[in-house]
Amino acid sequence: MSASPVLDIRNVSIAAIDSKGVATKMIVRGLDLTLHAGEMLALVGESGSGKSVSASAVLGLLPKELKITEGSISFNGVPVSSMAEKERRALRGKRIGYIFQNYQGSFTPFMTVGKQMVEVIRAHERLSMKQAKETALAWLHKVKLPADRAFRSYPFQLSGGQLQRASLAAALMLKPSLIIADEPTTALDVLTGEQVLDLLSELRKEAGCAVLLISHDLAHVFKRTDRMAVMYGGSVIESGSTEKISRDPQHPYTQLLLQARPPLSGPLTERLEVIPGEPGLVCLQGCPFSLRCPYASEHCSHTPAMANLNDDHAVACHERPAKGEPHVEYASSGEPVKQVVYS
Ligand code: SF4
Repeated sequence: MSASPVLDIRNVSIAAIDSKGVATKMIVRGLDLTLHAGEMLALVGESGSGKSVSASAVLGLLPKELKITEGSISFNGVPVSSMAEKERRALRGKRIGYIFQNYQGSFTPFMTVGKQMVEVIRAHERLSMKQAKETALAWLHKVKLPADRAFRSYPFQLSGGQLQRASLAAALMLKPSLIIADEPTTALDVLTGEQVLDLLSELRKEAGCAVLLISHDLAHVFKRTDRMAVMYGGSVIESGSTEKISRDPQHPYTQLLLQARPPLSGPLTERLEVIPGEPGLVCLQGCPFSLRCPYASEHCSHTPAMANLNDDHAVACHERPAKGEPHVEYASSGEPVKQVVYS
């Protein structure tokens, strides 16, 4: 892994603020993420877990009711907070591309897809109309669209899958270092969604860019990403190599998420497990998952710290039920006093 990450998020907290700028509710707590060139990292969790808000913070697109209260976000070693708004705007689109689930919003409805792509290319690069058109056509072809027809089409003349491919082309054509893909397949049928993600995976290898994939779909995440971070109630509760977490999830929430999805192969079980409690129910003191966790104990009223299980797997849980006895030591007050490194 190269030394300098493309994206480095350190201890970022985001809060909802009132009209006086005073924090009223924490939305994201102490987020730590690093993403290197060529790597694909997934942020996983239920809606409301803080995934999309975190992505908006990277893009500098937080709504005015939300504010970063702590921590730093650096892009290629430069803190985003030190950049002027003009620099941040140049960053979005040129060096950070994004694909949203609402592909309809990626293009203005009143202009052809091709004209919009040419305008974006020329806004960022010194190319003639002819060169910009050739670049746009080449990218539409790369995402396996009938390039000439897609170029001449208005957005409403393309299907959802075609439009999402066109937005993938538009995101990649400026050769960004980072792509943020926020639930890019939610509005597509299963097959089209698979094709769009396969293309994203293929083109990211070709372009060598990093991808932050925001998803609630574990099947997509397991199939395509190198690393993953699972969020619950605004905190990362498990992170590490996708291969390790899919094989040996350690946090009760991740374990339940895995049990609650249909098997990828073999016969369907008669009944899928259901995660107890209401989705999005967050405990505000201590472990955010404690109100739904089948293993909650008195220790869980204290927030568990992330503990490294090994080089690329960490979990925030006082009890690790899959492995038997808890490995955390507690003071008589019930406070965890030792962060255990598992071998
Ligand atoms: S810290 Fe406690 S409540 Fe939270 S996941 Fe672990 S066992 Fe469950």
